[in-house]
Amino acid sequence: MSSEKTLAIVLRVVDFSETSVVLSLFTDTYGKINALAKGARRPKSSFYGAVDILSLSQVIFLPRRSGTLDLLTEAKLVRRYRPCQWSLARLYAGYYVAELLTDLTEPHQAQPGLFRLAVDTLSDFQTPETSFAYQPVTAIVLRFEMRALALLGHGLGLTHCSGCDKPLVADALAPTDSIEHLSNRRNGKLFFSLSDTSLVCRDCCQERGRVIGFSERAAQVLRIYQDENDEAWRHHASWGTHPVFRQMMDYQWLEILNRPLHLTPAIRQMAKKQRRAVGG
Ligand SMILES: [Zn+2]
Repeated sequence: MSSEKTLAIVLRVVDFSETSVVLSLFTDTYGKINALAKGARRPKSSFYGAVDILSLSQVIFLPRRSGTLDLLTEAKLVRRYRPCQWSLARLYAGYYVAELLTDLTEPHQAQPGLFRLAVDTLSDFQTPETSFAYQPVTAIVLRFEMRALALLGHGLGLTHCSGCDKPLVADALAPTDSIEHLSNRRNGKLFFSLSDTSLVCRDCCQERGRVIGFSERAAQVLRIYQDENDEAWRHHASWGTHPVFRQMMDYQWLEILNRPLHLTPAIRQMAKKQRRAVGG
């Protein structure tokens, strides 16, 4: 069988024997693969650094029959995962991205768009605080989640009611709008249905399972985060830190995956801390 060469992100490392490990890799051209790296733990292993969690590497592997592990024959480190200032929040955010990629992808199914998104997201976590391109960690996580959903065909309905198809949200976001009114629990006219992954109007919300109170503005912000354009969300990065989005995403993943993610509590904690830090 021929060797396959591709870029890969290390999602998970599990000890196989004293010197060998089994890797879960998310690759550019072959999607997720599970591969045995023989001798990876030996002191002078040629895999050094390239098989650490969240490392980006150039790998060559031998595909095996379905149901058995592929065999990693070469791995060259391209970039280690080193979040800026060694921030614990950014470290866990990276692990969270790895957990989502593990759960949302099937082996040997190429997802090149999702791969590029993951590389960009990990790169955003590593942008130094002094850089102009620096973004709050919760906003980067939200951007990843919204794009990943869209790329996997679970994009959220953020324009019309999923019950009666009434248009609910205006296209334009007024530049003077403030972050204060993103959730609208008391007299909101909008709701977000988790089972429909869509907005619903007040009239339809009774029959749409679990719903979250939402404002038109929140829907507009999420639309920016869901859009392919990689610049617009950066101009609304502080909005992406609003707790209503964290709450919605946590419930949304639970609905889609049918079980909680291991790192949800860590991400929730991180969002709370960041909220306090910006005085919200
Ligand atoms: Zn409706």
